[in-house]
Order: sequence, then structure tokens, then C-alpha cells
Amino acid sequence: MSKSKEIFSEAIKYIPGGVNSPVRAFGSINREPIFIKKAKGSKIYDVDGNEYIDLICSWGPMILGHNDERIKEAVFKACEDGLSFGAATEIEVEMAKLICEIVPCVDMVRMVNSGTEAVMSAIRVARGFTKKDKIIKFTGCYHGHSDGLLVKAGSGVMTAGVPDSAGVPKGCTKDTLSATYNDLSSVKELFKENEGQIAAIIIEPVAANMGVVLPEKSFLEGLRKICDENDALLIFDEVITGFRLGVAGASQYFGIKPDLVTYGKIIGAGMPVGAYGGRKEIMEMVSPVGAVYQAGTLSGNPVAMAAGITQLKILKESPDIYTELNKAGDTLYSEIKKIIERKGLGYTVNNIGSLASIFFTGEEVKDYSSAKKADTQKFAKYADSMYKNGIYVAPSQFEAMFLSASHTDDDLEKILEAVEKSLV
Ligand code: PMP
Repeated sequence: MSKSKEIFSEAIKYIPGGVNSPVRAFGSINREPIFIKKAKGSKIYDVDGNEYIDLICSWGPMILGHNDERIKEAVFKACEDGLSFGAATEIEVEMAKLICEIVPCVDMVRMVNSGTEAVMSAIRVARGFTKKDKIIKFTGCYHGHSDGLLVKAGSGVMTAGVPDSAGVPKGCTKDTLSATYNDLSSVKELFKENEGQIAAIIIEPVAANMGVVLPEKSFLEGLRKICDENDALLIFDEVITGFRLGVAGASQYFGIKPDLVTYGKIIGAGMPVGAYGGRKEIMEMVSPVGAVYQAGTLSGNPVAMAAGITQLKILKESPDIYTELNKAGDTLYSEIKKIIERKGLGYTVNNIGSLASIFFTGEEVKDYSSAKKADTQKFAKYADSMYKNGIYVAPSQFEAMFLSASHTDDDLEKILEAVEKSLV
């Protein structure tokens, strides 16, 4: 029996499904999880000693590659002074200042511990600021697992909140409205039906949780306009796109200024971190200045801040990283498109720089319903073959692939060889 199997048989006795986050269970590709032991640069190693080129990168944060020496050193140094104080520290100020300097739409920022917390808090602030209750999200966009955001669309385009998980009271989702990604008319319709009641639109500016789905630029511009016309706030959930599309994320990439922005894992360089920020007058709603309560014992943890600051400074000071990373992504995915064409498979590849998905459907994928047309069983076979060929891909059709600055030309060659063998 492999060590992964052995550990898994123990894990399921003590942890629901044997994992601490569902996608790690590999359930949607009919496999058991791979247990990881260590990672370095572009490579990740499982407990059985198998080496993989990693296309998950901890779901984004390891943008410099795994176990970067500079980050590790900063973490060790911070640990020497103590792991947590539950009190104000200078390093939190340094982090806040750095984010505000890098991202033009952020005047003030509050650190939290996950993307889920960041989004949950940003929505509370948006409601407090606008004194309105309803929010619009897009079907297929994921914003963490807080009650009010676990909402799927019902039939049709515009559906009032239906809980997507057991244990979420109907009351928690009744103010969550769902619209269709890339479809402004679905948003306009909701504003018309709920006049004067919508506090905010929240969106993944590039959707990465129904697979990667790109926004039409006019769509994002349209959302900004609709929010302005209706005194609603525009929230960009940049948990995936922040510091990845470019140093200042999607807002800079698309030239659109959201009112609030949420970040996650990438600003902790792999440590558990999230943050939300935006316009000063809005952020001054947050306690202890304003009436919107939000708190966290471990928020701004000094070890996490040391890791995150080191990563963000490297990203800020080396814009070439993004040029290279986006070029590597564009090259890799255009080569994959060629393989698909050569084999006559007709699958769809969506990519924006280093972020991508291969959809096992011949149709253009621009929203949830077109993404859902993908053949998940074909994806499962492909993923299984990729692991066997030494490439660690996301174990779900509806997740993104991430490249890091540590991926070499040789890695890209090997990925292409594996794709060639695995795509059928
Ligand atoms: N927002 C987006 C866009 C995400 O992709 C995720 C998770 N990947 C979250 C929020 C939630 O973040 P976390 O898992 O850190 O709670």
C-alpha cells in the first residue's frame, strides 16, 4: 500500500473526508488524495517520494515558487521575537502601508486571516456604509464559505438566494442575489427589481472558481457604471487575481477602480492571511473608528506579516516577474491550444497570463452555464494521467492552474509532454 493510502485510511477516521478542505479529497476525479511532504521552487513531493511539477502553487500564494529562501529567512527571524502578541505591532503598519502604496484603489486596509473572512467583512462594511442590505454576486463565483455567500443560482438568470449548503438558514441568504457573469442585463434587471436596496456588487474580476473565465472589459466597466448610478459599491474579490495579474491585481490590469477589494493567501506568501481595503471614507466605518464591528485575535500575526511583506516587496521591486510570468503562461497555453487543435479535440483553453483552465468542452466558456458543459469524466482521466506523468494539477475541472516565477523552460516542456500524452 502506498504511504498516501496508508495515511488516508487513518485520516478518514479523525477528519471528515480525511481532509481539511473538500477539494483536497480529489473526490470529483474519483481518486484518493495525494499527501504532500514538502515542496521547493516549482516542485512538490508526496509522501511516497514522487516528484511533481506543481501547477497549483497552494492555489496561488506561492507565486515566487515554494519555500523561497528569502521568505523562509524572514519567517525564522520573526519567530525569534515571538509567535503572537495579540497586540499592535509595527510590522502590521508596514504591511498596510505597503499594500496602500502598491494598490491605487486602497487607501486603508484591515488584515484578517483568510479570504472568507476578508469577503465577509467587506460585505458587512458595504452594508454599513450604504445602509442597504442586498448584494449581487455572480453564479459560479466563489467568495469563501460564509453563510450569506454560499448561494447558487436557481433556475433562470436572476434568482433570489437559495442556500447552497446544509446548515445555512434561508434567512442568511435572502439578501444575496445572483446574476450571470459577463451579462450586464442580468445585473440591471436585479437593480430594477430591487430598487434602492442593493448595497454592493461583489465579483471575481477574473472568475477562477468555475474554472478560469475571463470578463469582457465592457462588462467590468458596465458594473462600475451601474454601481455609480445606484449608490452601490463595487467590490473586487482579488483573492486569486491580487498581486498575480500584475502587482496591483485586476483593478490595475483592467483599469477599473473598485470601492473595496478583498485579498487572501497571496499576501501571506502561504501563511494564513487575508485583507480587505478600499476608499478611506468607507474603511473608516470599521471598528474601532466606525460602527461596523470586525475583529480577530490573530489578525496581523507578526510571523505571517513577515512572510507576506517579504513576498510583496519582491513583487513590487521586480516588475519583470510579471512580464516573465505572463509570457510563460501565454506561451504554455498557446502551445496547449496547438496540441488540442492537432489532436482535433476542440477543447477550450481560457488563460490570462499565468492563470488558466482547460475546459473539456468545444464551446466558448464565458459563464457558469457554459463552464458546466465541460465533460468532468474526461477531465478526471486527464488529471489522473497528468499525475502519472509528474504534473500536479488541480483535482477539479472547475479550478485554475497557477504558474510561479520558479517554473523553468524545462518545466514548461515537461508539462507540454504530459499534456500531449494526457489529452484524449
Ligand atoms: N474568494 C475567492 C475568489 C477565492 O478563490 C477564495 C478561495 N480560493 C476565497 C474567496 C476564500 O478564501 P479562503 O479559502 O482563504 O477562505
